[in-house]
Amino acid sequence: MNVALIDVDLPRNGKVKFPTLTLMKISAYCKARGDSVHLLTVDEYLSGDLFNRYDKAYASCIFSKNAQKAKLLADMGVIVGGSGYDINKRLPDEIEHIMPDYSLYGITDTAYGFLTRGCPRGCPFCIVAGKEGQQSRKVADLSEWWSGQKNIKLLDPNLLACSSHMELMHQLIESGANIDITQGLDIRLLNDDNLQLINNMKIKMLHFAWDNPNDKSTQQALQKFREKSIIDARKVGVYVLTNYWSTLEDDLKRIYWLRDNGYSPYVMIYDKDHAPVEIRLLQRWVNNKIIFKSVDKFEDYDRRIG
Ligand code: SF4
Repeated sequence: MNVALIDVDLPRNGKVKFPTLTLMKISAYCKARGDSVHLLTVDEYLSGDLFNRYDKAYASCIFSKNAQKAKLLADMGVIVGGSGYDINKRLPDEIEHIMPDYSLYGITDTAYGFLTRGCPRGCPFCIVAGKEGQQSRKVADLSEWWSGQKNIKLLDPNLLACSSHMELMHQLIESGANIDITQGLDIRLLNDDNLQLINNMKIKMLHFAWDNPNDKSTQQALQKFREKSIIDARKVGVYVLTNYWSTLEDDLKRIYWLRDNGYSPYVMIYDKDHAPVEIRLLQRWVNNKIIFKSVDKFEDYDRRIG
């Protein structure tokens, strides 16, 4: 069979920023049964009479801003999933637990995946609890989706909340790979034992989140981490949620505190399409590290730059 795998989030130029794990798993499954697989943008799929060439088409949409395109494909009979379109759609177990086909995106040296799913926090702005359940549970061993690549991108929403997290962290250490913890570790769940394991990992990038400006426990935990961790501060990013329950003043307090304490803040905007201009500028100032390092105060940031 000729199978189209449509990455709805791929820009027109096809340049990949976030490869889609679901499509890499479907690709592996299809190739194992002898199908010919083609990765396409939405435009490529729709152009000319191309779409008549495929016996089957699957699409994934991670970002809700692209949901309209996903709906268009679904209306044409494409099987569509992804948290930007339908948080209830699941892969069958035999595909969910297959070794992903990283070659679909031309990836040779990085493995992507989840060791755990779910999160007990249930933050009101986050889809994880509704999508994956309000408990963090082990779903895979590292060997399920890692086969010796030198880099690992871990996508877990809340690894430390899982009762098996120590065992899973040992697997990450034993891999010897460079680890990028992309979604953030819940810093409120750090203790001396799991901190020791983090110190033993080859961390490429580690993220925490400080979402609520009134949450003193996160601030204290960040302080403690700085004192006890041996991880290079340049490898530690902290997501700062804005445009949800904080004022610009609240946001600036967190950003300045993080910078003054050796962290690299990274502004996330809730409902970015409807966010005030000031918050978008704040994001541009903070997340462009060249600008952030050269302009000390947000008030001094020239909005024509960047
Ligand atoms: S702790 Fe993180 S993953 Fe869990 S619900 Fe809150 S934002 Fe989502």
